[in-house]
Amino acid sequence: MTQYNANMQDLLTRPLIITYVTMACNLRCNYCTVKNLLLKRPTDKLLEDKTLREIIERVPNIHLYLIGGEPLLYPELPKFVAYVARFGHRVSFDTNLTIGTQVLKRILDQLDPSWVGYFDISHHLEQRVPLKSMAEQVAMLRERGFAHFVKYIAVPSHFSEIERAMSFFEDQSSGVVLTILYSANWNGNSYPRDYTHDQINWLLRNMTLGCHTQQVFGGIKSAGIPCRAGQDAIMWENSDPNDFLIIPCCHGRAFPVDLNETFFVNGKRGTKPCHVGECMAYPHFAYGINGVASEIGRYETVLTGGAPRLGIDRSVSYLEDLHNREYEFVYEQNYLDWRGRA
Ligand code: SF4
Repeated sequence: MTQYNANMQDLLTRPLIITYVTMACNLRCNYCTVKNLLLKRPTDKLLEDKTLREIIERVPNIHLYLIGGEPLLYPELPKFVAYVARFGHRVSFDTNLTIGTQVLKRILDQLDPSWVGYFDISHHLEQRVPLKSMAEQVAMLRERGFAHFVKYIAVPSHFSEIERAMSFFEDQSSGVVLTILYSANWNGNSYPRDYTHDQINWLLRNMTLGCHTQQVFGGIKSAGIPCRAGQDAIMWENSDPNDFLIIPCCHGRAFPVDLNETFFVNGKRGTKPCHVGECMAYPHFAYGINGVASEIGRYETVLTGGAPRLGIDRSVSYLEDLHNREYEFVYEQNYLDWRGRA
């Protein structure tokens, strides 16, 4: 049986920095939230950022979560991960894992699993990425003991293909997750708001993490709730080098924070009131960063290939628990209508 190096309890205690490692990407997905900023070649050097390096060298035991673009295209990636690991940090990757087996092998051969948190892999069926090649690359991670899950984006026209692919990876003992389609105009619909009753049933049946179920109803209204985001969890928003910001979390561009007011300079851990107002940031739910929910045990089980789908009853318990604690969903009426017919 594969021994994975997941240890989410360890990741949980670490301050978190989410950052774009490169804006280059080898795919062009229609639902990509940064598609207008993507570059063709990984010529940028975002990680030569002096302020970020100063933090990396001064603050111990950070969890760095690298997004893009495609992080594995960053030419200096193994060197960078080895460098940050020297300071006790662990690095996770949000990747499409379509860089080719030889390139992936070369990268993995230079990484020690103890330096890595996990690989959050998006299998982009929208781009016709074949299951066979995805399976080959995922197997390389599994064989080397890198914690990972394969993620599917719930595009309605792909539901049956997603179900088949999820079953395939479950049978291979790789974790799977399902997340919502997030798009203001997808064939004339806005998702997640416009999922139909039957589509919501399908989603809740196939989710493996409760933190994704809350996304189906647009997340929660979060104004004022105490949250670690903006304190010891920040997003280094360098997707546009001409418009750099530190923000509390992925949808918080309108609410930049002063780095001097964060843990990374003032050393204070704790919470701040949420200004963003609407929260569907799934790691912040899963890791307990926003104080609303925490499912770190299940997250770790998913990352080691062991978590089955929640099914409707457990998804509903997760949602009802939020409701009973008086959190309101962004699409509250959709939730009430769906519950009324469920
Ligand atoms: S939107 Fe969510 S993660 Fe961001 S600050 Fe508000 S509660 Fe925290």
